[in-house]
Amino acid sequence: MGAPEPFTATADVGHYIAGEFTPGAGTRRQPVFNPATGSVARQVLLASEADVAAAVAAATKAFPTWADFAPIRRARVLQKFLDLLNQHRDTIAAMITGEHGKVFTDAQGEVTRGIEILEFACGVPQLLKGDYTEQVSTGIDNWTMRQPLGVVAGITPFNFPCMVPCWMFPLALACGNAFILKPSERDPSASLFMAELLKQAGLPDGVFNVVQGDKVAVDALLAHTDVKALSFVGSTPIAQYIYETGARNGKRVQALGGAKNHMVVMPDADLDQAVDALIGSAYGSAGERCMAISVAVLVGDVGDKIMPKLAERAKTLKIKNGMALDAELGPVITQQAKDRIEGYIEQGVKEGAKLVVDGRGTAIAGHEGGFFTGGTLFDHVTPSMRIYKEEIFGPVLSCVRAHDFAEALQLVNDHEFGNGVACFTRDGNVAREFARRVQVGMVGINVPIPVPMAWHGFGGWKKSLFGDMHAYGEEGVRFYTKQKSVMQRWPESTPKGAEFTMPVSK
Ligand code: NAD
Repeated sequence: MGAPEPFTATADVGHYIAGEFTPGAGTRRQPVFNPATGSVARQVLLASEADVAAAVAAATKAFPTWADFAPIRRARVLQKFLDLLNQHRDTIAAMITGEHGKVFTDAQGEVTRGIEILEFACGVPQLLKGDYTEQVSTGIDNWTMRQPLGVVAGITPFNFPCMVPCWMFPLALACGNAFILKPSERDPSASLFMAELLKQAGLPDGVFNVVQGDKVAVDALLAHTDVKALSFVGSTPIAQYIYETGARNGKRVQALGGAKNHMVVMPDADLDQAVDALIGSAYGSAGERCMAISVAVLVGDVGDKIMPKLAERAKTLKIKNGMALDAELGPVITQQAKDRIEGYIEQGVKEGAKLVVDGRGTAIAGHEGGFFTGGTLFDHVTPSMRIYKEEIFGPVLSCVRAHDFAEALQLVNDHEFGNGVACFTRDGNVAREFARRVQVGMVGINVPIPVPMAWHGFGGWKKSLFGDMHAYGEEGVRFYTKQKSVMQRWPESTPKGAEFTMPVSK
């Protein structure tokens, strides 16, 4: 592959409302950085309440016609969008690297995972097929159908500016809803590019809208009576706030939160495979993935065997501008994120964890202003330490020692987060017991980052998800539709007279 074209646009990033790109009525803006250089690349305009109201009005107007499209017609529009997304995959990937910092090949993978949800959503005629029972009672049939909710909104985090919106809007639109996306203000460009592609695909104006912004925009969406459902992905405190406020305001809400994912390495595991898995899943995307492994639970004698190998690899990561095709680790999102991560490293040292590899002080020649922090490795971390309890969301791997399988499982189950988890072992019974007993929503057996495919649905347990339904998959279809049950009888010509008793199956 030749060197990818970097994303260099300097224009302000605004909103997309009723099929038009608009700066909106708000006067606030904030800088968007290129994390690899630390320089301000462009400005994002922050929506006012009036901008949100305009987006909701556009979506409300567009909804009835879109909902009346036959599902196969909606699927055809999405199919065209899917083709365009495939054509422009590298353009979007460069946008992601330019604003998020993750390495370009990882950004390509992100777009591909978004594309897979589109592929699933294109099967919507099959997904919306209801149930039918002939003859629930003599001469009476009963069926169910799933109908769209109306205007729904998605609020997304910085770490997957293409994939996480794609967890939401393809299925929401396929089911016949109108959608408002409020992307992260830190990497807003991919959202507008996708809006442009949806327009080119023939999506009617107003069916998909983007409002850039912060808490002001989110609170306006939470308060608006015409917004029927909210999908949120982000940190746990905000997820809980969205869930509680949305529910209080009568909305359907799914709110996915933060994580602290463990990987248990059993003494019988293939240790070289486990090292590869830990290095990739702890330091990939600079640890800014909700499915990153941030805790290794090393069982029995694994710790002493594996630590030198982990240290060697953590020290020699290729840390570069993510546009370099051989980069393994790019910068983190902002200077504040770097300071927060390095503050946790300081805290870990104070609390008595053994700092085996220190990523602080990483300087990249030619990128001195970039938000780089290297891979950090801690050993002898204990459950009482803040670096064990809290989500760091950076390239920091904390290793905990456990005597046996039971202790390792208990550790995972006692943690307040329950997004993803992995167990590396060659013992089928251990693997089976682990998968059955672990209190976590997504489990990998010898798979470090078990992100479910488009048709399986994504969601954690405990403080990693508020709400009843997971993102995408069939749960996504249920979330974006409401069930209606129809019972029908065509009376014979001879009247039978009124019935005053409870009708029962005859
Ligand atoms: P964040 O919670 O800061 O922001 C997420 C969204 O909420 C953004 O659109 C932001 O503008 C908005 N927001 C921020 N503060 C707000 C407030 N006070 N009121 C209303 N809205 C607010 O998260 P982030 O830093 O963008 O993303 C990283 C977090 O997302 C991590 O905790 C990570 O684990 C989590 N995440 C979870 C999943 C998952 O599937 N569980 C997936 C990706 C990311």
